[in-house]
Amino acid sequence: MSLLPLFIDIKNKPCLVVGGGTIALRKVKMLSKAEASITIVAPTICQALQEHCNDTSISIHAREFNNSDINEQCLIIAATDDQALNKHISDLAKQKNILINVADDFKQGDVVLPSVINRDPIQIAVTTGGASPVLARLLRRNLERCTPSAYGSLAVLVEKYRQTTSEAIVDTDARRRFWEEVLQGPIAEMVLAGKLSAAEESLQKKLSSKDFTNNDKGEVYLVGAGPGDPDLLTFRALRLMQQADAVVYDRLVSDQIMDLVRKDAEKIYAGKQRSNHSLQQESINQLLVRLAKQGKRVLRLKGGDPFIFGRGGEEIETLMEEGVHFQVVPGITAAAGCASYSGIPLAHRDHAQACIFVTGHLRDGTVNLNWDMLAHTNQTLVFYMGLHGLSIICEQLINHGLNEQTPAALISKGTTPDQRVLIGDLSSLPNLVDTHHVQSPTLIIVGSVVSLHTKLHWYLTEKEIKA
Ligand code: SAH
Repeated sequence: MSLLPLFIDIKNKPCLVVGGGTIALRKVKMLSKAEASITIVAPTICQALQEHCNDTSISIHAREFNNSDINEQCLIIAATDDQALNKHISDLAKQKNILINVADDFKQGDVVLPSVINRDPIQIAVTTGGASPVLARLLRRNLERCTPSAYGSLAVLVEKYRQTTSEAIVDTDARRRFWEEVLQGPIAEMVLAGKLSAAEESLQKKLSSKDFTNNDKGEVYLVGAGPGDPDLLTFRALRLMQQADAVVYDRLVSDQIMDLVRKDAEKIYAGKQRSNHSLQQESINQLLVRLAKQGKRVLRLKGGDPFIFGRGGEEIETLMEEGVHFQVVPGITAAAGCASYSGIPLAHRDHAQACIFVTGHLRDGTVNLNWDMLAHTNQTLVFYMGLHGLSIICEQLINHGLNEQTPAALISKGTTPDQRVLIGDLSSLPNLVDTHHVQSPTLIIVGSVVSLHTKLHWYLTEKEIKA
């Protein structure tokens, strides 16, 4: 049977709900959101429904249903657990041509209350025509995921300028193109990134300049791709990955993540290895500017978080100087990802009250750090880029006062199916790493929290290696 999708303005219109249990409550909540004038009839009303109705104008009749209850109603919901009664109510309603929904038995009634994705004023409704409410809910969840939460604000902005735009751009084709550009370009992105006044300003500028062409489309998305597992991407990262025209990506971005990028996007490798910088930072900065100025939506995809040892700050500084629109999307940094996937909480009431992220990058054969500040108990140290300086790091921490038995871990390829965890202490970890071939990237965690790994590890347990 095919249904007519319909959104009804039911505000202040009389609606009857027969039933007082949790299903009735769910329906009453939907009607309440639409500001219907609700009457409930049921001999017993569950506590949650009663609480929902307190302080509202919903009228409750705590008694059995009477045939006359349906008079003058605009919509009826039969939500009792008595099927015969639900059918009886439905028959009465149909005789009088009143819309009726029978909870959990769509075919008895004629109206479905769908699963709703709400981005007020936008509403997306899903129904399976009564086939499977669970399936409808799953589908709704998928749609929730790919419908940015700020779409409502976008709709509000567009509505505000609809009239002005109709007057400014009389030709309907030109007007459609104008809105398509606004809704698929930097103005929409600004709204979705929460920059409402900047978006409005750009919209006004676009309208008054009479420039309805596509050349302000260029922008850069500086996006953190997380440590490797594609499931750790943010919704926003995924959305931007799927709409970018060009992608400039790093060595740390995994193949599985690259597979999620728009298939026909231009892909440019800007990978950096320790001593083999495929593209120098300055050239990357300039490349981003050049691509954006060609009108492209450029995705700058980085491992982990762009602002944690990712040089994201330098890249956006250049974009700012060059007047290129951009937004920054955080990612799960390696420390958070590796710690979770190796069962090592970075902070713990009994072990560490602070956590420090440090770069262990070797420069001129040494690691230059404030060792006095680092060599303390009750804190966790996380070394990025520390593999080559590992023995220096351990040695310096011991020399500056940490016990050589302070637990230390090295996590290689964290959060991926190839993750390996090596557990030792400051004196044993360098040897352990020497005797096991580890693959980069690797992260080092030092501190008493590492001892919790024995109890809390949960991911890929067969690959653990201990001293
Ligand atoms: N911006 C990134 C870090 C870039 S520096 C972030 O926020 O994670 C590169 C270093 O990150 C590597 O040398 C390594 O120390 C660490 N790293 C990144 N991904 C990792 C992973 N999956 N497993 C272990 N270490 C990782």
